[in-house]
Amino acid sequence: MAAHLIAENRLADAIDAAVADVEPQLIAWRRDLHAHPELGNREVRTAGVVASHLRALGFDEVRTGVAVTGVVGLLRGARPGPVIALRADMDALPVEERTDVPFASKVRTTWNGEPVGVMHACGHDAHVAILMSVATVLAGLRDRLAGSVKFIFQPAEEMPPAGEEGGARLMIAEGALADPAPDAIFGLHVTSQLATGTIGYRAGPTMASSDTFRITVAGRQTHGAMPWRGVDPIVAAAQVVLGLQTIVSRQSDITREPVVVTVGAIKGGVRENIIPDSVELRGTIRTFDEAMRDDVHERVRDTAEHIARASRAGCEVCINKNYPVTVNDAELTEAMLPTLERVAGKAHVGVVPKVTGSEDFSFYQHVVPGLFFFVGITPPTQPLTSAAPNHSPLFYIDEGGLPLGVRALAHAAVDWLEAHPTAQRKQ
Ligand SMILES: [Zn+2]
Ligand SMILES: [Zn+2]
Repeated sequence: MAAHLIAENRLADAIDAAVADVEPQLIAWRRDLHAHPELGNREVRTAGVVASHLRALGFDEVRTGVAVTGVVGLLRGARPGPVIALRADMDALPVEERTDVPFASKVRTTWNGEPVGVMHACGHDAHVAILMSVATVLAGLRDRLAGSVKFIFQPAEEMPPAGEEGGARLMIAEGALADPAPDAIFGLHVTSQLATGTIGYRAGPTMASSDTFRITVAGRQTHGAMPWRGVDPIVAAAQVVLGLQTIVSRQSDITREPVVVTVGAIKGGVRENIIPDSVELRGTIRTFDEAMRDDVHERVRDTAEHIARASRAGCEVCINKNYPVTVNDAELTEAMLPTLERVAGKAHVGVVPKVTGSEDFSFYQHVVPGLFFFVGITPPTQPLTSAAPNHSPLFYIDEGGLPLGVRALAHAAVDWLEAHPTAQRKQ
């Protein structure tokens, strides 16, 4: 693809004017969504707000109830052309808000049986408001659009409640990327690690795969004064924790990609003088390469099982594969860079380090080439090191950073459609 083709955009001025017009609504939507956060697979009100907006804009199709509460809207341009998809996630987190904004969440609910506060602590309220604004902007330009834009509003990016399915994987299973199938997909995430007015991107592996494990070390209960009469799972589990550290420090080629293995919970025993029957370890694994991901899983199993066996303890290892690596298509990333530089200014676009957090946007990228980039929302006067991270009860969005997100997605969608006049598929 010739990058110079999309360094200019015949609709650029019209897009920017429309973004300026929609800005008051963008902020109002964001504040309304922020005050009414909903957890994964429970985004009923949010989905209602989104669907009625898309219908009011005269979208050609608005599907609701996709993957429980997801909304998929289709906007056909007046002229034929390819299909580009834009995605926003809608769910909030079980976090009790501690910011002092006037529209702070006071919502409480239960999560996996526990009472919790609910907060848009990852900025998905901004993502929804941004994509609703892009819908307004592009609907106003549909007479001049060659091709279609698919708007994907996805639930449960932060994982559905225990025992439920949800998120991007289920959206795809329920046809979000079919009829019509998009030829590429874009998504963004607001981040407090970048200042307002800046865009961060990366080609190739960008965010980690995220898998969880549960290791049960089975010993034999005995009196704490007579350990030789049983099998002590506590000491065996402690050795397993240490052994797991060597998967990163001694066994993985960290010059290729980084790896993280974290044990986040140890449970076993009830009393100081009883050696318990078993100990449970829980943890998470992050990688940036699918082959390394499989390799680390195998090593976690081997390490735990063999160390436990050396103590004559039993061992059961259960690894849950959650999200794959978020990999930005290299060619697509390069092709869209002029767009990002045009909307933010070249000096305000930069390559960001890999993120060991994960994103289920990765599932879409397994089906179509995708680009997932970051938009800064920390006030320029605040040092980034002191900005509360995403998921913090103090997570704060400088709303002055949101119009750039609208411009970036709207320009990217139009640029991509204009650059692919021949990509039209049979629908
Ligand atoms: Zn998050
Ligand atoms: Zn998020």
